[in-house]
Parts: sequence; structure tokens; C-alpha cells
Amino acid sequence: MFEKLAAKLQEAIDRLRGRGRIGEEDLKSALREIRRALIDADVNVEVIRSFVEGVRERALGQKVLESFTPAEVVLATVYEALKEALGGEPRQPLLKERNLWFLVGLQGSGKTTTAAKLALHYKAKGRRPLLVAADTQRPAAREQLRLLGEKVGVPVLEVMDGESPASIRRRVEERARAEVRDLVLVDTAGRLQVDEPLMAELARLKAAMSPDEVLLVLDAMTGQEALAVARAFEEKVGVTGLVLTKLDGDARGGAALSARQVVGKPIYFAGVSERPEGLEPFYPDRLAGRILGMGDVATLAERVKAAGLEAEAPKAAKELTLEDFLRQMQQLKRLGSFSEILGMIPGAGKALPKGVEVDERAFRRLEAIVLSMTPEERKDPRILNGSRRKRIARGSGTTVQEINRFIKAFEETKALMRSLEKRRSRGLMGMFRR
Ligand code: GDP
Repeated sequence: MFEKLAAKLQEAIDRLRGRGRIGEEDLKSALREIRRALIDADVNVEVIRSFVEGVRERALGQKVLESFTPAEVVLATVYEALKEALGGEPRQPLLKERNLWFLVGLQGSGKTTTAAKLALHYKAKGRRPLLVAADTQRPAAREQLRLLGEKVGVPVLEVMDGESPASIRRRVEERARAEVRDLVLVDTAGRLQVDEPLMAELARLKAAMSPDEVLLVLDAMTGQEALAVARAFEEKVGVTGLVLTKLDGDARGGAALSARQVVGKPIYFAGVSERPEGLEPFYPDRLAGRILGMGDVATLAERVKAAGLEAEAPKAAKELTLEDFLRQMQQLKRLGSFSEILGMIPGAGKALPKGVEVDERAFRRLEAIVLSMTPEERKDPRILNGSRRKRIARGSGTTVQEINRFIKAFEETKALMRSLEKRRSRGLMGMFRR
């Protein structure tokens, strides 16, 4: 998430490392870099001004304690400023005994996908959701929600062409009562642009149904544009909270960092993949930590739990086989993309040379290599002589060089694990067992 911004902010702070004292000039140039990073991330100018001012004041105001370096002081103040810009304390919609929520937003923002994601999210928490496909003009939009509802196992009520708000309300109430549904999620109509007739229709539906929450779904990839949309919806329809989608893509961060100040509404959730499971409550503190390379072990641990992964009984490093290695990598893979996972492990992102993207395809090649080996070879790669390596390269569609590199990486990992064992750590999965 926000890789570019993260790299630039971390660079600005890294430059202060090793300094015993921080002079006015150092701070000035660090702030200049921070400002530039925020501009590149498409953050609102007012937000940038107060952000940089806040960091300056706090950094200067800090009593430079013996035990903290200037880099640490700046890191801490930037962390606080990021957390504030992202909304401060995490906020979630208030759940009552019975709930009716609207999802509003432009077509393509991810509104329908988010409706299904929310249904799944709250179903897993023991709620009984009902989805409502409320676009009275586009049957295709209703069809899309019906299919998604089937996928997540939540019923979908479809409105009829041109159905009146009063009739929709009546049918929704009846269905919710009959089926004891306690969370009604209304996927409202979307258009490609903010248009007056749509806003008027939404306002009428809202007046008829009095939703407890109006969640505005915004595409984070559209940056500042998303916030202009947000202001229009807020003015015409009223909004209680935001969902930012497509944060898994290369969104620069502008929408997330400016929303609080520009729209004044909390971000409740983040969309992090196209799949129905790809929705996470939005935690400003965790995200700020990730942006600054401090990791986000809390989110990673939750994903481990949600994916149903068992932390394996630790094996001694010397018994580790290529099969174990592959299995562990496959497990990690289920948690998200490698680069994303590395970003959640404190310090791990830094272990990669700057600018190196972890190639997902590379993983599939490694998998092919291991699958082309005989069981004996997987157990003991030392028997892999030249002709065996050639055979495996042919079988897996890779090269002998790749195999050499892979075996070397495996041996190095084993060596690393051995040294970790000495420090009585239990490996990567061991981090999640407290
Ligand atoms: P709607 O027109 O607002 O209802 O938007 P859709 O729900 O149809 O989503 C538009 C496109 O964005 C679809 O291809 C979705 O799969 C995709 N999408 C939605 N949310 C996310 C997300 O969080 N991450 C990614 N990568 N894609 C998303």
C-alpha cells in the first residue's frame, strides 16, 4: 500500500540516522522531502500544510531525550501526523439490534463488490444480512449483486424497474422481518458521474427508508477526484462514513490521507482485493506504521487466523526439507501478495534492496521446480548433481541457473533459521504465537 510514499518518507527519515543532534537545517531539509513526498502522493495542499507544520512543531517541541536519536524523534512525530491525517482512532459503524445501511457511490467505485464484502464480513461475525439491489434503472447492476450474493451465501432482494421508494421500503421491511434479517445492506444506484437526477433519487430513497448509516464507497485510485465526489454526495445525500476501495492497487495515498480533513468523515473500511474476503476495517495507526516501515504484525496475525493457518510445530532447521519450504511459502501466499506481506513484517521490507519488486511469477517457477523433483531430492537437495538439475530444469520449464539460485537460497534460509534457533525464536510463523 502506498509504496512510493512509504519509500520517500522512509528515505527522508533515514537521512537523519546517525546524527547525534538535529540542527534547524537538517529538519528543514527533511520537512522539504516530506512535503514533496506528500505532493507526489496527491495529498490535498491544505492537508500537506498542516501535516508539515505539525511535524515541525512537534519535532522542535520534543525535549531531545538522551535515549532517543533525532531520527527516532522525527519518525515518531511523522507517525503521529500520518495517523491523525488518516483519521486518528479507528472507527466502525455502530451496530444496533436492527440495522439498515446504504451504500452510495459512483459506478465503478466498487460499491456492489463492497456490499457483498460487508455482507460476508458481518455474516462471519454472526449477523444475518440481507442485500438489496436497489438500482431501479439498471437490471445489469441488480444481476451483478444477485451473483455476488450467491457467492457469499447472503440473500438478495431485487427492486423492480421504476419501483417507488415507498414500495421498496415496504418490501424490504417485510422480507427482513419474515427472514429475521438484522443487517440490511442497500446497494443504491450508481452513475458514471455525479448527476442531479441520481442525487435526487438517492435523497428520496433515503427519506423513505431512513438508513442508520450512509456509506460512501470511493475508489482510492482516483485520488483527489474521489474527494470532490465525496463532497458532492455529502452535500446532496449526506454521508456517515467512507469505504476506500482498491487500496491493493497502486493508489498513491492522497484520498486516504486527505479524506478526514477534506470530507470530515471517518474511513470505516478498506478494500484490499477483488475477492469477497478483501475488506478490512481501517486502522489509521496500523497503516501509518506500515507506511513508515514499522510493520503491521497485528493485521498479519489476523490474516493468519482468518486463513485458518495452523502455526506448524516447529521443525529443527537441520530437518527442514524443500517440501517444508514450499509448503511454508504456499501458506504465506494465501495471506496476500509477497510484497504486501513483507510490508507487514517489521524491518522485512528493508531487507529487500530498494526498488526490487517481489515477482509473483517467480513463486510459481519455484513451485514448478520443487514439483519436478523426486521425493528423495526434495528431502536431501545435496544429491542434486548436474544431470539431475538438468532434468529438473527441463521438467519445470526453468533453467539450471535458477535451480542453483533456489537451492542456494534454501541453504541460506536453513542457515538463517539455525541462527534464529540459537536465539530461541521459532521462525516466521512463531511470531504469531504469543
Ligand atoms: P460498482 O459499479 O461501484 O458497483 O463497482 P463494482 O463493485 O462493480 O467494482 C468495479 C470493479 O472494481 C470490479 O472489477 C471490482 O472487482 C473492482 N474492485 C472493487 N473493489 C476492489 C478492491 O478493493 N480492490 C481491487 N483490486 N478491485 C476492486
